[in-house]
Amino acid sequence: MNPDLEKLISLHHAEVEIKRLDAESAEVPRLREALEARVAGDRARLDAAREALEASQGVRRENETAVQDLEAKRSKYKGQLMDVKTNKEYTAMLHEIEAVERDIRSREDVILEEMERAEALAADVEREEEAFRSVEEAARGEAAELDARGARLEDEQRRMRAEREKVAATIPEAPRGLYERVATLRGTGMAEARDGVCQACHVKMRPQPWVELRQNEQLVQCEACSRILYYEPPPTVVEP
Ligand SMILES: [Zn+2]
Repeated sequence: MNPDLEKLISLHHAEVEIKRLDAESAEVPRLREALEARVAGDRARLDAAREALEASQGVRRENETAVQDLEAKRSKYKGQLMDVKTNKEYTAMLHEIEAVERDIRSREDVILEEMERAEALAADVEREEEAFRSVEEAARGEAAELDARGARLEDEQRRMRAEREKVAATIPEAPRGLYERVATLRGTGMAEARDGVCQACHVKMRPQPWVELRQNEQLVQCEACSRILYYEPPPTVVEP
């Protein structure tokens, strides 16, 4: 094989690998963000459960205070019963007291309802807290894995870039310049040709260049996309 061609193939493979590594490592921060969003969603569920419990407790406290005030009012009215002068005033005062007592009873019903509700809501909070603890623990594990993957990819990227530089330095200026010009133009400098077809632009080669290419002795460019072509002979099938 033409030694320049061989080196160009190594350079091309290194660049393809670098691109793959770049794409893979760009995924890592996206996965981290998705993970954080998932944890935030679960935390929001826990917060909502806590808020529902607090709201119920608030309603209960509000009614407890109101009952205390109403009880004071009732005592005051009962005291005033002694001072009324007429039957009419007495009856009116009794009605006032009844109204206050009705209010107390309905508020006491609300307090009981809220106590029952708070019990169920506290159970929700406990369940959500437990669920969130395991979510957090799993997320910590996943985050550590992602960090490790990011670090591993960075290592591989560094190694691959060094390898590319090493190979590139051994390629004479003319073929390397050609490769780089095409790479700048097309995104990749080389393409494999299989069955006489450029695998990058999918244009069929003319028979003559296809024959030349398979000898792997000179640089053959795709006449459609200008990429330097390479040919990998099919693996020899060993008869059993
Ligand atoms: Zn092509």
